Amino acid sequence: MISQTDGRADKKNTCFAWYGNALATSMAWPVIRVKTLMNEDIIEKLRTIVGVSNVLTGDQKVDRSAIWRTNQPCIAKAIVRPSCTAEVSAVMKACHEQRQTVVPYGGMTNLVLGAVTTPDDIALSFERMNEIENIDRTSQTMTVQSGVTMQDAQERAEAEGLYFPVDIGARANCMLGGNVSTNAGGTRVIRYGMIRESVLGIEAVLADGTVISSMNRFLKNNSGFDLKQLFIGSEGVLGLITRLVFRLRIKPQSHNVALVACDDYDQVIGLLNKARASLGNSLSGFEVMWDNFFHVVVQPNGRLPSPIDTAYKFYIIMEATGVDAATDDEVFESTLTQMFESELVADGVIAKSDAEREAIWAIRHDVDWIVGDAFDFDISLPVADIFEYTEAINVALKKDIEGIDVVTFGHLGDNNLHISVQCDGAKTTHAHTIERHIYETLKPYGGAISAEHGIGLEKKEWLPISRSEAEIELMRTLKRSMDPRNILNPGKVISME
Ligand SMILES: Cc1cc2nc3c(=O)[nH]c(=O)nc-3n(C[C@H](O)[C@H](O)[C@H](O)COP(=O)(O)OP(=O)(O)OC[C@H]3O[C@@H](n4cnc5c(N)ncnc54)[C@H](O)[C@@H]3O)c2cc1C
Repeated sequence: MISQTDGRADKKNTCFAWYGNALATSMAWPVIRVKTLMNEDIIEKLRTIVGVSNVLTGDQKVDRSAIWRTNQPCIAKAIVRPSCTAEVSAVMKACHEQRQTVVPYGGMTNLVLGAVTTPDDIALSFERMNEIENIDRTSQTMTVQSGVTMQDAQERAEAEGLYFPVDIGARANCMLGGNVSTNAGGTRVIRYGMIRESVLGIEAVLADGTVISSMNRFLKNNSGFDLKQLFIGSEGVLGLITRLVFRLRIKPQSHNVALVACDDYDQVIGLLNKARASLGNSLSGFEVMWDNFFHVVVQPNGRLPSPIDTAYKFYIIMEATGVDAATDDEVFESTLTQMFESELVADGVIAKSDAEREAIWAIRHDVDWIVGDAFDFDISLPVADIFEYTEAINVALKKDIEGIDVVTFGHLGDNNLHISVQCDGAKTTHAHTIERHIYETLKPYGGAISAEHGIGLEKKEWLPISRSEAEIELMRTLKRSMDPRNILNPGKVISME
């Protein structure tokens, strides 16, 4: 009797209002009646599992937006807040029995409509599962519940003289379960890899409530399939991550940051090659900002002071961290000197204090104006082709849409370009045209439609640009086998029909 709800979420669209309208038109009255009768059962059942105060309904959930920095109220049937794996398992068992759809909520900072709900869904929030259970200094591991924020993990590791190596701008809000579900990247991927490289063990709850405890603590463990990989980057469609074991690193003793400027893209590539060759593994950041980004952020247009002249085309933040402060500082300075001498950089400055390092990074992290108003993209392609690609999309977008602004920046050392497109109707009237140009122009370069943010609902339509039909069919096979009733985050990443 209960219709599968996947179809209602399959249409890609970035506009929440549209999404709601689509829902309204697709729901036939008899289905609503059947569901309403069952609603009360499931809510009561969930209250007995997690306690009355941990099942939020009605006005209790209006300020919980499913879309970052919007005022759209949460429209789920209820928000359920379990405190431990056993409760998550019991919640899923009850939902599975009643074919109740469940959408996991982490810190809700994803930028791809990855956790939007319909009025038929239960949202399962990990906010109460925020315990750092253990830090093992000898093994250099940290065991956590999945609702711990990235910032808490970083601070706790540091207090123990260790280092949590992944860092993203949303660190204060995002949660480790959400980070692992999206395989988060950030500014240090060039050295430490995506968060996948730091995950040793995972505990997850499947759609039917089965607990899969794969809490490995070793760097080496080839005992059968590496099951944790199924849950990393799969955006909550295959299971709910409840606990994690992370690999920590030695806390760096040296920290060097420079802001340099180049006149052309060939210089930028030369600079990257030189930085890799001279700084080796200590190179921990190589962030490039086009002038269209830099000029919006720094004065006189922006709010931050620039420590260098603002007349250039590209601005690069180079960061190196190491274990020997004296030697590392010297190597960093001499690398920069060589870059100047060989005319790879036109201008630049090395930070000499924590305050100066923070001031330089603040320029790159000042993205609130972008994520708020613009239509943002996060793609990968070969570093050598990035400039040609940006020129091509600028021409195509400006030809089709009047008054459009294209802002480009990114983690260039990891092939990752962020594009922020701004114009009236960027996320509504012009959304499809903008997406078509950004994604289809990627094809000849073999590019990826998502470098780090994931697919969610927003990019699902475009997945075939980066993945073959055989790959997508294998994703469906895994989904059918792990979640045969299609109740976990339905409609996200892949369509099931
Ligand atoms: C200012 C800003 C800067 C950002 N910078 C970066 C960046 O540099 N690099 C980067 O990679 N991303 C970045 N992001 C995107 C975002 O922060 C990441 O995708 C982050 O990993 C999401 O974590 P979250 O806890 O907020 O997850 P949510 O947004 O809550 O969820 C993300 C997805 O995972 C699912 N999910 C959540 N928790 C669980 C769980 N426990 N088990 C199973 N599924 C779950 C959700 O349903 C959803 O599909 C940025 C976002 C903002 C707003």
